[in-house]
Amino acid sequence: MNDDRFDVLVIGAGPAGTCAALAAIAAGARTAIVERADFPRAKVCGCCLSPAGVAALRALGADDALRDAVPLREVTVEASGAIARIEGDRGVAIGRDALDDRLLRHARARGAVAWTGTTASVTAPGSVTATDRAGGSTLELRAGVVVVADGLGGSSLAAHGTTPAGAPEAVPGWRIARGSRMGFGAVLPGDAVRCAPGCITMKVVRGGYVGLVRLPDGRVDVAAAADPKMVRRLGGPAACAEAWLADHVLRADAIRDAAWRGTPALTRRRARVDGPGLMVVGDASGYVEPFTGEGMGWAMNAGRAAGALAARVAQGSARTDDWPRALHALASRDRIRCRAIALALRSPAFTGAALRAFALAPSFLDAFARRIGKPTARTA
Ligand SMILES: Cc1cc2nc3c(=O)[nH]c(=O)nc-3n(C[C@H](O)[C@H](O)[C@H](O)COP(=O)(O)OP(=O)(O)OC[C@H]3O[C@@H](n4cnc5c(N)ncnc54)[C@H](O)[C@@H]3O)c2cc1C
Repeated sequence: MNDDRFDVLVIGAGPAGTCAALAAIAAGARTAIVERADFPRAKVCGCCLSPAGVAALRALGADDALRDAVPLREVTVEASGAIARIEGDRGVAIGRDALDDRLLRHARARGAVAWTGTTASVTAPGSVTATDRAGGSTLELRAGVVVVADGLGGSSLAAHGTTPAGAPEAVPGWRIARGSRMGFGAVLPGDAVRCAPGCITMKVVRGGYVGLVRLPDGRVDVAAAADPKMVRRLGGPAACAEAWLADHVLRADAIRDAAWRGTPALTRRRARVDGPGLMVVGDASGYVEPFTGEGMGWAMNAGRAAGALAARVAQGSARTDDWPRALHALASRDRIRCRAIALALRSPAFTGAALRAFALAPSFLDAFARRIGKPTARTA
């Protein structure tokens, strides 16, 4: 076999991409990964891996990537002066620099050929140009199936733009929801903010919400979803985080000095998630606001399914057009629920009133509480 020809070529080494690669390798496919960033790399994320994500890694035999992860046992939601504490298994906290790097190492150890610091671009069915970002040299790669797992900010399908309606051969483009929020985040020194280990703190404010969690090495991850106009009005991500975190802040200088990163619009979907020799997975296939902290778990489970299917496509026993139905079955109900929660939280006053209702009738918000922990909510 030619060295530049693979059964499955995965673009992006986030949770979706590495889980797709691990599943494809397990199914016997010769697999490659092309990743734009140099690893380890930071990523805007709340860093809370859901129980479903933990289970996905266990099923792939990759859960030792979570060896030092912090078990999460409580979520605190604050809005308009009300606070609800919700106890239950919320999975684990782990930094994205460590998690993604460990999963990529796993994939390499199991036989994946991987390039980092290399930008991939899909040029034709089964054809990818990979450009080394530092040196500018290019490789022309071929694969039976290309799995696009390049996230919200991915560029591998950029050349293809928006899918014209009714063009079955077209490569997928984005549909972005009106009024979509953006994400921003940073990892802060451990003494910058108040944040108890093992507890997720979520604060709902006018224009968005912000979450805090303590990572295994003691640093604190901050991630927010925000109305872009509000972020601009408050003077950028650092100023916005400082204002929103308010009484959690211990060292404002550390917040101002942190390396803040932003994301493009969060709520979006692909017009299509398949094409000739092409499957799209993870955030690259669509995303909703992240309040319930399930994106990585979704990405891992969808990645697992995509990798296994891609191996079968490469072996000639399945087709890429089986992917939309498979993905819909995996993801659509969760995304609708998550979108509904995100819309309900758009009003901090409503959220505060709902949290106060916990005190009067804990069963009132039972379904909501179940979604962010076991329904044993208490209101402070
Ligand atoms: C504010 C915020 C908070 C969040 N909090 C949580 C949380 O607490 N828990 C949770 O589970 N999820 C959370 N999420 C969601 C989670 O971060 C994503 O759902 C998850 O990272 C999706 O994984 P992915 O593999 O699809 O994409 P990504 O993790 O984005 O990985 C995509 C990879 O593709 C690479 N790439 C892009 N373009 C190219 C290219 N052309 N060529 C090669 N490589 C390329 C990128 O460098 C990147 O490494 C949050 C998201 C946001 C924005």
